[in-house]
Amino acid sequence: MKSYIVGNWKMNFSVGESSVYLHKLLQKLPRHRNLEIVVAPSLVALQPLSLQTDRKKIRLAAQTANPHDFGAYTGAVSCTQLRGIVDYCIIGHSERRQLFHETDKDVRATVAAALRNQITPILCIGETETERTFGETHDVLRDQLLGGLSEVSTEDLSKVVIAYEPVWAISTTTDARLAAPDDISEVAGFIRQILRESYGKTIATSLPILYGGSVNPSNAGAYLTVPDVNGLLVGSASLIADQFVEIVEIAKRVQD
Ligand code: PEP
Repeated sequence: MKSYIVGNWKMNFSVGESSVYLHKLLQKLPRHRNLEIVVAPSLVALQPLSLQTDRKKIRLAAQTANPHDFGAYTGAVSCTQLRGIVDYCIIGHSERRQLFHETDKDVRATVAAALRNQITPILCIGETETERTFGETHDVLRDQLLGGLSEVSTEDLSKVVIAYEPVWAISTTTDARLAAPDDISEVAGFIRQILRESYGKTIATSLPILYGGSVNPSNAGAYLTVPDVNGLLVGSASLIADQFVEIVEIAKRVQD
């Protein structure tokens, strides 16, 4: 299966800085047929960067989108408007759920909107620290996964990418809070089990599952070799060219 390295730039870089940074990445990144490299710049940078990027090397993702196609939704941008500009859309990121109050209903409608606009949804799921402490991880993940996919047709299911991002492991600098590869393996296996029970073996084995949560060049190799993990969603380290490129190089070595 293809491996994915997705960099989420969040609300960083001006449009000019984004362009300079993309240029640097395009120069430094290797091309690899089994590796999909995706970056998610700020919304305002997407259109100019779509004209600049070489899609064979780096594809673009939106960090979120509105589930409606058009209409009176001041400030929002839809997948219909993003169509042709991005190939992917990150949906249900924990920051969107927590800080912008995106609900499971919003998430599933946006996944459906992305698919009807030929955009690949990267559906983010993950438990909070409290949910983990109370032993609710599996229930939360099952709800977020099946909820997020509930408006997807059988034929479109194979076009979805899942990202498991335990909220407690995002943006941590403390080693003790990093997710252990064994824990990720257990969760990735659980996600495949749920997919198998709900949609059958073909979907369960073919959907890519990415891991995200404080990935950096020192731990990327360990995460990329976790069974059932097909790539990484990278936040902070994706903002530093040397680190992002190193993570891609590691992924390339793991693929080879
Ligand atoms: C994220 O927010 O998606 C993420 C993975 O961030 P970080 O790598 O900084 O933990």
